[in-house]
This record gives sequence, C-alpha cells and structure tokens, in this order.
Amino acid sequence: MATSVFNLETVFPDVQIGDPISREVAYRLIRVNDQQLPELLAAALATKRKFKSNLITYSRKVFIPLTNLCRDYCGYCTFRRDPGQPGAHTMTPDEVLAVARAGEKLGCTEALFSLGDKPELIFPEMRDALRHVGYNSTLHYLEAMCELVLRETLLLPHPNPGLLSTEWIARLARVSPSMGLMLESTKHLACHDDAPDKIPAKRLRTIEEAGKQKVPFTTGLLIGIGETLKDRVDTLLSIRDLHERYGHIQEIIIQNFRAKPEILMRDHAEPSHGDMLRTIAVARLLMPEMNIQAPPNLSLPNYDDFLDAGINDWGGISPLTPDFINPEKPWPHLNQLQLRTEAKGNILRQRLPVYPEFVPALTERKGLLSEKLAIAIGAACLARSAA
Ligand code: SF4
Repeated sequence: MATSVFNLETVFPDVQIGDPISREVAYRLIRVNDQQLPELLAAALATKRKFKSNLITYSRKVFIPLTNLCRDYCGYCTFRRDPGQPGAHTMTPDEVLAVARAGEKLGCTEALFSLGDKPELIFPEMRDALRHVGYNSTLHYLEAMCELVLRETLLLPHPNPGLLSTEWIARLARVSPSMGLMLESTKHLACHDDAPDKIPAKRLRTIEEAGKQKVPFTTGLLIGIGETLKDRVDTLLSIRDLHERYGHIQEIIIQNFRAKPEILMRDHAEPSHGDMLRTIAVARLLMPEMNIQAPPNLSLPNYDDFLDAGINDWGGISPLTPDFINPEKPWPHLNQLQLRTEAKGNILRQRLPVYPEFVPALTERKGLLSEKLAIAIGAACLARSAA
C-alpha cells in the first residue's frame, strides 16, 4: 500500500514520532477514515524505522500440536477436538521427536508447542492416556517433551499451553527460553462463554506472573471476535502497562479472526484489511520500541501492507509443518516472504524464539534454567551471530 506525502503535523498534531501516544489519542487514531489512513501508516512506519531500522525478523519453526483435546470451546476454534472426534490426537514422544528432527534438518530453531488447555480436567480419556505414558497432567507431559527436544535436537521450545500457575511458569521456564499466551481481549466476549480459561483477568494474571519471574513472553490480540475499537486499544494498553512494570513482553501479535464453515462464528464478519492496518499502526504508536508481529498467512495476498503499518516481525514460519490453528491458510514460501519484505526496502532476518534483546535477561536467570537449556541458548546465539 502506498503512503501519501507525509503530513503528520497537519493531520495528527498530537503525534510526535518516537513518543508513545496517549489512550485518548489512540481511541481517536484507531477510528481514522480512509483519507487519513495513509498519514497514520506513515507515522507508524516512521516510528518503526526510528527504533527497528529496516530490519524485519521471523522465526523458522516447527509447529508441534501436542494435543488438540481442550476443555474450552471458543467460538472461532477449529483446532480443538473432543476425544473420539475425527482428528482428535495427542502426539507420542516419537512423533514429537520426528517433527523436531525433520525441522532441525531444514534450519528451524523453534519448536512451537501449541495445545488445548487442561483437557484432563474434563476428559477421562486424556487422564488415561497421560497415565499410560507416565504423566499426571498435560503440563507434566509438555515439560517432558520440551526436555526431550532440548536433549535430542538443536531446537529451542516455545510452549503455548494456556493459563499457568506461578509454579508452572517456573517449571516451563526451566526448559524453554520464552513462552506465550494470547491475551486476545481484556473484554469478556460471547465467543468465550464456554471457555473458562479465556477469562481476561486470569490471562492477565498469568502474563503478570511471567513478568514477576522475568520470563520473555509473547502475547497479543485476536481482533474481530466481538470487541469494539475501544476494547482493542484497552487491550493494547493493558499489555503496555504490564510491560512497563516488568519489561518482559518480547512481542505483541496482532492476529485477525477468520470465519470458517465449521465454527460457531461462521457467519461473523471478519475484520477488514483496514482494521488490521489501523490496529497495527496504533499498537506501534502506543509502544514505539515493541516487537510487533502479524501473521502473513491470514492476510494473503496483501500481507506485505503490514510492513507499512509498522510491524517488525512475521512470527513463526515453518518450511515443514502447517499452521494447525488455521490449516487452510498455508504460510507463504520463505522466498516469497523475503522478496515481498525486501521490495519495501527491508532486510529479512531469521531470529530465535527468544528475541536477542531478551537473551541477557535469560543469562541473569541462569540458575533457574536447566543445564541443557543454558547450553542450547548459548549455542543457538553463536550460530545466529555466525550466520
Ligand atoms: S482456542 Fe485454544 S482454548 Fe480455545 S478452544 Fe481452541 S484450543 Fe481450546
């Protein structure tokens, strides 16, 4: 998307490039009309360039859907299954290792563990399956699979297991350099009526606890699921507030809802491309130095417009595994991603699942990391700096 002649002072006199905008200004900017949108994008891009230069990153990953059983029923989810439903599956350790090893051969450095939240609480079948392999809970099994990947491959685990207690954040942080939980929205929305793990206050508590433990953390918004524009700004501000207090948010994902025939929300309107651009731009102006990411596969063919709105990261891209959350939306080929990124004057660079600026914080936590993880982080950083 082309931006017009930069005319910031005239259109947005209360925006200074590099200074975080206020709540009130954000409420206004997220509603700009199509005529003012190019100026908003120009301000966001100038801000991104000031703090992130022309660098755009991505993480080469394998996607490991450890189990798609889940005790929640989110209105937009095609990933989750009940036991016995077609496609219901919990991966075995051999399956986990096979995917991780195949990814390692293709230059991946991230093992993204995505899974349903606490399925054993409502499904006896999951309790039996876990007992069969020797674990008390899905989190115990996840911890063991992170250890397995660390022990047998060069990949670094990045788990996304849902809500976590203080104890489980510490346990998983021993075996993974970063972890994630999408906040989605700070507003309770109808799509989460049957999802006890999507209560915003509980998700904020998990993210805050990770901050207290200084764990590099990925979070973000899912937009277009019933929230208002004001809710979106409020969600961004909640994340900003947590980051100001604990300094641990390593990236914010702005993800767009996509309607699919098999979901409860099949007739719900999708957010427009302009919605994505406005939300990304406002996120950049609220948090000028933040790593901001948008998934390219959910906005084909025009995903490269997000570069104009101030993103500096494409997230995890896999040369091997599909996006199991959105399997009908394949990631663009890495060559394509590179061409599109460079066509807008940027440099595309591979990163680890922990951003470079958060590695020193991990070094400070060294006594809390498993020996394997400490060695793996050191080796991965060395390999990346030599690349
Ligand atoms: S989005 Fe996550 S928590 Fe919600 S139903 Fe799907 S797997 Fe479960």
